[in-house]
Amino acid sequence: MYEGPVQDLIDALCPLPSIGPRSANRIALHFILREGGKEDAERLASALMAVQSVQFCERCHNIAADNLCRICKDERRDRAVICVVGQPKDLIAIERIRDYRGTYHVLGGLISPIEGVGPDDLHIRSLLARLTDGEVTEVILATDPNLEGQATATYLARLLKTVGVKVTQLASGLPVGGDLDYADELTLGRAFEGRRVLST
Ligand SMILES: [Zn+2]
Repeated sequence: MYEGPVQDLIDALCPLPSIGPRSANRIALHFILREGGKEDAERLASALMAVQSVQFCERCHNIAADNLCRICKDERRDRAVICVVGQPKDLIAIERIRDYRGTYHVLGGLISPIEGVGPDDLHIRSLLARLTDGEVTEVILATDPNLEGQATATYLARLLKTVGVKVTQLASGLPVGGDLDYADELTLGRAFEGRRVLST
């Protein structure tokens, strides 16, 4: 055990995802002992402060620096197509394949009876609201290739059938059981290309 602020820093780092006690120690000591550690600490501290004021896009619920995210602000994006994902990280994964020029809708989670997440906990109502003006011609369901992702896609497919918009889902071939963002760009690109039509 270190004393004072060093131990406080280790205790703050330790519960973070993917950081165990050893990494927490190494990171804490980096700030104190390494050359440039002070600058790294200042940069991290100001980034941590800034991230507290992060917003979510009022249209698609993506992480945004403003009331609309950069994708919703971009006039060149095709508003007729909405790709539905669970979390912002999935949006980032799809953006990496670079082929997609439509917009997104981030649900903020996936249906999971075990974790007590139901449709009402997700941004589904705002998705339906986006479909009312007739501008949208296709909704692509791109939820994780696991149980929760499939449950969510099945729920949405049934719901959207009544709206009269074309609904497609990413082709199988993604690593089953994992997260969408585990798939490499090529696999994800193929799943996107080969998406199947659920309803028209
Ligand atoms: Zn947005």
